Amino acid sequence: MIYACWYQKWISNTDMEAKDLAINGGPAVSGKLIGYGHQSINEDDAESVMRILKGDFLTCGPATDQFEEDLKLVTGARYVTAVANGTAALHVACLAAGIEPGDEVIVSSITFAASANCVRYCGGIPVFADIDPQTWNIDPESISKKITDRTKAVIAVDFGGVPVNADEIESICEENGLIFIEDAAHSIGSSVQGRPVGALADITTFSFHPVKTITTGEGGAVATNDPDLARRVELFAKHGITRDPSLMERDPHGGWYYEQLELGYNYRISDIQAALGSSQLKRLPEFRARRQGIVRQYDEAFACIPEISCQLDEMPDETTRHLYCLRFDVDALGVTRRFIFDALRAEGIGVNVHYLPVYRLPYYEHLGYAQDECPEANDYYEEAVTLPLHCCMSDEDVGRVIEAVEKVVMACREQAA
Ligand SMILES: *Cc1c(COP(=O)(O)O)cnc(C)c1O
Repeated sequence: MIYACWYQKWISNTDMEAKDLAINGGPAVSGKLIGYGHQSINEDDAESVMRILKGDFLTCGPATDQFEEDLKLVTGARYVTAVANGTAALHVACLAAGIEPGDEVIVSSITFAASANCVRYCGGIPVFADIDPQTWNIDPESISKKITDRTKAVIAVDFGGVPVNADEIESICEENGLIFIEDAAHSIGSSVQGRPVGALADITTFSFHPVKTITTGEGGAVATNDPDLARRVELFAKHGITRDPSLMERDPHGGWYYEQLELGYNYRISDIQAALGSSQLKRLPEFRARRQGIVRQYDEAFACIPEISCQLDEMPDETTRHLYCLRFDVDALGVTRRFIFDALRAEGIGVNVHYLPVYRLPYYEHLGYAQDECPEANDYYEEAVTLPLHCCMSDEDVGRVIEAVEKVVMACREQAA
């Protein structure tokens, strides 16, 4: 183990706002600090928002319809509903899938809490599946093992933007009569053998939070090819209310008439956000290329460090990476992950950790979830560090991150020797 005094020297430099880094991704690059995630907004993005502010519709207008059309093109999905955020998208996906109290839904264990919370909103029971130790995505074998008579759906996260094994999950779901929901909060712009994320699962959800690949400030979307699921998504996202006479139970009383058919929510996105989304989608190819370039530089640099493992991605040219996470072999380095994290922060690298296994969050622990539910996920958590990855980084910034990682690894080796 590292001597305490040496440790102190590293962390005494730390002067950054942990809260900002965790929630907003931190500054793009400010002074000596490189944030882990950051939006890229250009003049065209700003102008598209201004046009809406000066126009007739701030919500429920043509910009929202346009954003949904643009998302259909990018995702290849027949139906898209844009919503208020990625969490609302997941909630609506669960409602559309008919998740009810007591239903079990198998969820990735290494993900943001929202992937499981959406099941709880419906009174359902998230059942956590373990991850594959190389791709860090949900392990299809673990899904199979956790299926019971009460299982209704699977929510699989494309961790870091690397798509899950959709074919295998799809066939497990088909065999067992389950609905396959893909949480694609990380993976807009990724594809699998030319098939874009968005039409691989029964329902796909997106998030457009500022740290994600494209942003609308807050925002999300639900995509599906199934007309029946699409109708339910639309209904639950908009108060459960319809103005479509073909869906009504009674004859319309007149032009004002609408019916509420379900207990839905107001999960609408505004036209202000949607216009920003359409503008950002035009830049997706640019974002994808830049993110792939940074990932390539990182992968090459870290391939020569035996104490580091990178996320396995068999089709990197098809991936639009949202997060760049690493695993440090903390036993070989003779330190804890916390040490590596603090040392990198002291070097001005706004590192983060994605994620604590969801069943280990106190809310889930209090519900009675075993804290050793998924051994691979627990092992991953002890070693994981997320490096900065966003389109405001210059090649020089990428070089600084690599140098800092090398410096910390070298220092650990010297201490361990
Ligand atoms: C960001 C994220 C969400 C939630 O999206 P919001 O837009 O912040 O509500 C859901 N799932 C995953 C995996 C995410 O990373």
